[in-house]
Amino acid sequence: MSHTSPTAIRSMLKDARMEIDWDDDHKSIYSHEHLRMECPCADCRGHTPDQAKVITGKENVHARHIEIIGNYAIRIEFDDGHGTGLYTFSSLRDALCQCPDCLTQ
Ligand SMILES: [Zn+2]
Ligand SMILES: [Zn+2]
Repeated sequence: MSHTSPTAIRSMLKDARMEIDWDDDHKSIYSHEHLRMECPCADCRGHTPDQAKVITGKENVHARHIEIIGNYAIRIEFDDGHGTGLYTFSSLRDALCQCPDCLTQ
C-alpha cells in the first residue's frame, strides 16, 4: 500500500488517456476505457462480489471531467453519463496504474 499523493493529474481527451504524477516521482498512465471498466462505484461493483457487473463496450468512452475529492480520491465523469465512481489515490497507484513498470510486475 503506497501513501503517495498526486502532484499533477492530466487527462488527454484526444488520446483517451489520463496521467498522474506522484510525489515520489512515479508517473502513472491510465486509459479512459480501463478506468471506466474498473469503476469502483456500488452500481458497477455491486455490494457483494457476485453482484459485480461485467462492463464491456466502453472502448469509446472518455473521461470528460475529473474532480479531486479531499486529499484521498478523484471522481471521474465519463461521457457515457456515468460519474459516481470515486477512485482513491491508493487504488489508482497500486491497482489501476498501467505504466510499463506496473504492468510488468
Ligand atoms: Zn460505476
Ligand atoms: Zn505505475
